[in-house]
Amino acid sequence: MLIKLIALDYRELVQNSIMSHINGITDEIDVQFKMRLVKDKSVWISIRGRALYDEHGKALRVAGSISNINKEKIAEEQVIQLAYYDPLTKLPNRQLFEKELSEVINNKLIKSFSLMFIDIDNLKAINDSLGYRQGDIVIKNVTEILNKHIGLKQDLYKFGGDEFIIITRDIETIEEIEVYLRELLKEFQKPFDIEGLGFTITLSIGVALYPIDGDCMDLLLKHADTALNHIKQKGKNGYEIFSYEMNENLNERLMMERDLRRAVAGKELELYYQPKVDIISKTIVGYEALLRWNHKEKGLIMPLEFIPLAEETGLIIPIGEWVIAEAVNQLRKWHIEGHAELTISINLSAKQLKDIRLIEFFTNIIKSSGIDPRHLEVEITETTALYDINYAITILTELKTLGIKVSLDDFGTGYSSLNYLTVLPIDTLKIDKTFLDKNNEKQNTEIIKSVIALAHACDMNVVAEGVETQEQLDFLAEEDCDLMQGFYFSKPLPYADAIKLRPIVKK
Ligand code: C2E
Ligand code: MG
Ligand code: MG
Repeated sequence: MLIKLIALDYRELVQNSIMSHINGITDEIDVQFKMRLVKDKSVWISIRGRALYDEHGKALRVAGSISNINKEKIAEEQVIQLAYYDPLTKLPNRQLFEKELSEVINNKLIKSFSLMFIDIDNLKAINDSLGYRQGDIVIKNVTEILNKHIGLKQDLYKFGGDEFIIITRDIETIEEIEVYLRELLKEFQKPFDIEGLGFTITLSIGVALYPIDGDCMDLLLKHADTALNHIKQKGKNGYEIFSYEMNENLNERLMMERDLRRAVAGKELELYYQPKVDIISKTIVGYEALLRWNHKEKGLIMPLEFIPLAEETGLIIPIGEWVIAEAVNQLRKWHIEGHAELTISINLSAKQLKDIRLIEFFTNIIKSSGIDPRHLEVEITETTALYDINYAITILTELKTLGIKVSLDDFGTGYSSLNYLTVLPIDTLKIDKTFLDKNNEKQNTEIIKSVIALAHACDMNVVAEGVETQEQLDFLAEEDCDLMQGFYFSKPLPYADAIKLRPIVKK
């Protein structure tokens, strides 16, 4: 046989197949291999046959068939490519992950490994605001960085739309995992350039270790996913390694959900009011309504501790409706008491904005309370607005048609792209309190200046959040900021205390 024509990778396979047959281990030779042609070309060949022997039992030659199976093989490779590889990133997909991992676990091929479940934060917002093509570019960029980070004993899979999995066979201790992930996350600190826009992409990563966190694939995945959810709830952009305490937290969450249902039905919710103050005249022009939960056993609970849960469980809808009704009622009372120009702002979360009954709810409450809707304002965050920008534009426009004002909250914490500002119907920008932070003073000063200029150019008012010192106030006044809100003037207070800060202004 012209052994030299057989492609290097297959020579041993062909030789073994022939020898196994000659030595009586197999009934026939049945082998498929690549044969080299001229230059870099090769062709798939199949050999099937039996050896013919002389009278001394010495193998003389093979009788059987040699066929060119190139077409079938190429088709087969394409099918494998389609079935097991992600077309966008060319990475092995979920099917191949499951196949390979179950082989590894069932055949006990590896003693231990770690499974890292990676999710791109807020990819949906990018898809919705910029389009799927840009979303694809982000996924490709992320793949490229992950690929560079992958070592010899590590495998990278594309698990779902924006989910990846890394299996590491050489990193086992918690310390090693932490170093590995910190370095990985560091590579995402630099903004991506997508068609001239600078985008910061962050990842959330949940890790589970085989076999201590799970000795089968389903359990490992489940626990890595639990860890991933933990980091998502903590505010994304980081990693979390699974621990059984997380499951205990789950029980705690279930109890909190039960209590929150009770709170909605009972009288445990309360609104506090924080004044919004005119920077020049120092008069209170309105209040932001901020939710508090007076838990029967645990005392006062702040919104950031229960609003995410309320969102997940859908309880935010009845809670939000209570907030709107209560705030409108308070506004009506204050107007009757003589605070005629006062406005009230209500925070709306993403789920509320998506609720099809929202507009009807506002319409009815404006009618039944008799308040002037121009004194009502809703605050939504950048992330909420960008989650589905076209839908946000529709709903916000409808709210504005009712006469309600719209304010963009926590501005500057979400995206670096300012393009969407011009398409959203917004009256007011609220600069996030992190920009008043002392650290990074120089950079923040510049950001505040340009945000104020930009907002004014778009005919919007600017509110600075989290003003705590005279120094900050002076700087904001200098920069022509319109309103301020913060502990320097007052904390959020119950309605009776909040209104005492404001002398009655009779018309
Ligand atoms: P937000 O709308 O950005 O509200 C401002 C938060 O900053 C409030 O926290 C307020 O107490 C705090 N704050 C005000 N001035 C200062 C200051 O000078 N320094 C510092 N460090 N903090 C200051 P709070 O009341 O804990 O509310 C947190 C968030 O919870 C709110 O952020 C809002 O996003 C959400 N939230 C509050 N009430 C509601 C509600 O009724 N519905 C919804 N969906 N979300 C709400
Ligand atoms: Mg707010
Ligand atoms: Mg805010």
